[in-house]
Amino acid sequence: MDTRQTLLAHCAGHLDTLRAEGRYRDFAPLEKIAGRFPVYRWHRAGGAREITVWSANDYLGMGTHPAVLAAAAGAVARMGVGAGGTRNISGTSPLHAELEALLAAWNGKAAGLIFGSGYTANQAALSALLAALPGMEVFSDAMNHASMIDGMRRSPARRHIWRHNDLGHLESLLAAADPAAPKVIAFESVYSMEGDVAPLHAICDLAERYGALTYLDEVHAVGLYGPTGAGIAERDGAASRIDIIQGTLAKGIGVVGGYVTGEASLVDYIRSTAGGLIFTTSMPPATAAAAIASIRHIQGDAALRRRLAERAVALKAALDAAGLPRLDSASHIVPVPVPGAGRCRAVARRLLEEFGLYVTPINYPTVPRGTERLRLCATPHHDDAMIAALVRALGAVLPAAQAA
Ligand code: PLP
Repeated sequence: MDTRQTLLAHCAGHLDTLRAEGRYRDFAPLEKIAGRFPVYRWHRAGGAREITVWSANDYLGMGTHPAVLAAAAGAVARMGVGAGGTRNISGTSPLHAELEALLAAWNGKAAGLIFGSGYTANQAALSALLAALPGMEVFSDAMNHASMIDGMRRSPARRHIWRHNDLGHLESLLAAADPAAPKVIAFESVYSMEGDVAPLHAICDLAERYGALTYLDEVHAVGLYGPTGAGIAERDGAASRIDIIQGTLAKGIGVVGGYVTGEASLVDYIRSTAGGLIFTTSMPPATAAAAIASIRHIQGDAALRRRLAERAVALKAALDAAGLPRLDSASHIVPVPVPGAGRCRAVARRLLEEFGLYVTPINYPTVPRGTERLRLCATPHHDDAMIAALVRALGAVLPAAQAA
């Protein structure tokens, strides 16, 4: 076999299928404009155009906050850009240690550990923990993120999938498992494609009943919920019942990186065994400095969180008043269903090209086929006029797409 020719033909055929299904990924070049978030410059053929972004995961706009920019710039001036090594090979600055201590304290845990991304944090921590004891069984919510699934698959643990947020199903799986087997329950707090929220205390009750360890992904909640923004576990007073809290520095915090926090020996074990931490260059010191500045600001700015919640309510109310569809959501994430990958993509394209509104179409495999959607997030910086413009544009574009 000519491997090269066969592989080239396979790749070209697969890409054709993706194009035909409306699932081909192309990236719009978008330039954030510091000081004017969520306004970006879209670099398209024929020149740049200013647009409003409705799908940023920089949920609070901290990625362009002056205090965060100043912290990053100061650290670059003092320490340069790259970390220059793995954590073990001269890549641990005092800022790395400070950030880990800050994250641990935020979650009320003894220790914290940072990674290059939230994805790596999940993949590395779960694969390490689930390989730690023989016969481990992991109970995973059906909507858990790809990074958690990746971590579970890389471990020898037996995986049980419970229907999304269905605690009756979770309990039946726990009850059917070997009582002597070590168990981990892995779940998220805010599910980013649905916008719904897990019942943390009820899951912890089951974990206690069946002797399971709890692993919580707070990626879409950190910065946004709880009196100091630590997440849903803080909001619900459940943090002390969760063994490992994982999160990202890339969304609410507006920078990049991921973390886990938990009991010292668990975190230390991950630090000493997880390939995704050991064999990769550590986060740039300026990134750690930016994250520290962002977290410190967020912790003291409850008004920003109130404004986020108020903007989400305003967006939902405006969609409802215009008779536009949306999925029920208990969070800041507002999914608007547009079934059909091609249709969903076409709607997003029209919103961008005709109305200057950037909205991400969410297709399979991120969501099941037939449940494609636009994923909207109003940040504290989306004003009433922006909401009105979005609703007007959706009102113009959606009915034609539904009829198509
Ligand atoms: N966990 C969840 C639930 C996510 O949605 C994502 C990314 O969107 C991640 C983890 C990965 O986080 P990061 O973007 O920091 O890699």
